[in-house]
Amino acid sequence: MTIMGCCARSPDSSDRFSNRCFNLFPCLSDPVRRSTLCLRLALVTLHLIFVGFIFIFNEEFREKSKNQPLYTSIYILLVFATLVQYFFTSGSSPGYVIDGMREFSRTEALSRASEISKQPASSKNGNVVVTIDKNQLGENFSGNNPMNWTKLVLDMYPPGTSARTYTCSYCNVVQPPRSKHCHDCDRCVLQFDHHCVWLGTCIGQGNHCRFWWYILEETALCIWTGILYIKYLQASFDKAWLVDVLVIIMLSILSIALIFLLLLLLFHSYLVVTNQTTYELVRRRRIPYMRSIPERVYPFSKGACRNLYNFCFAKTSIYAMEPLPGALELEQMSVPYTCLDVISCRCCC
Ligand SMILES: [Zn+2]
Ligand SMILES: [Zn+2]
Repeated sequence: MTIMGCCARSPDSSDRFSNRCFNLFPCLSDPVRRSTLCLRLALVTLHLIFVGFIFIFNEEFREKSKNQPLYTSIYILLVFATLVQYFFTSGSSPGYVIDGMREFSRTEALSRASEISKQPASSKNGNVVVTIDKNQLGENFSGNNPMNWTKLVLDMYPPGTSARTYTCSYCNVVQPPRSKHCHDCDRCVLQFDHHCVWLGTCIGQGNHCRFWWYILEETALCIWTGILYIKYLQASFDKAWLVDVLVIIMLSILSIALIFLLLLLLFHSYLVVTNQTTYELVRRRRIPYMRSIPERVYPFSKGACRNLYNFCFAKTSIYAMEPLPGALELEQMSVPYTCLDVISCRCCC
């Protein structure tokens, strides 16, 4: 009876505790936000454990910190930069189609307003009177002008393409080329790459560059920390064996993480150079407008150098969209490489 009573009471008390927590921190009531928060906490804790271990047990490192403070400062700066980059990337927008649609409507409304203001205005007693259709402007600002958006998306496909538009049944928006609906975010993402569980967000047009930098910083931090662990083992292999065993376990985890990070960095560098996304590479046959394109042709590539430049510097807006090339351009891209092409760096320009 007592056991049954305890069992019956425990869910109520846990519910009460949960409700108290949710009242104190309202953001915890949302399961998605709760899991994101847990992920972030786990990441910070992991970094603190792996980095803190060196500061606590590595005497040589502590000595070096006193003699060469710049060395330690750069290491701490790298740890800090990696964590900042993580939060920066996970909190950034991947570029949602619905936001792109609103941005397009806003730009269109503003350009229309400026056109109206440039028109010869009616004159009353010599005073210039500028008339703007407020209803029209309001309609555009609210993003409720899907016809113009549909036309814009249609124009991104070359004439004669069989699958020209696709309307997402979840968001009810016309998807431009390279976008896809993410079931985790429940929104369509422009230039969808993948949904990153580790970051708790989608990787798309708006944050792919940040994501690449995050992997680079994490890889550099992993290499540096690994070197410090190896140096520690070399210096004190015959001293405290229990600590050594712990260092070996942590070094093994670091090595696995490093292999994964290096492969990820190489893979995403390849995607950047060829202007592809993970989704386009993996599911090429499932994307209607990609099916007819030969295997080795990257339709959105503008040459390795231009792709790299566009990825790093040229993006003026996270909602800028790339049209699908026409049949003639695709034919030119599919021409096999000759020795002359290699010499003239055809792949780069
Ligand atoms: Zn959608
Ligand atoms: Zn997502």
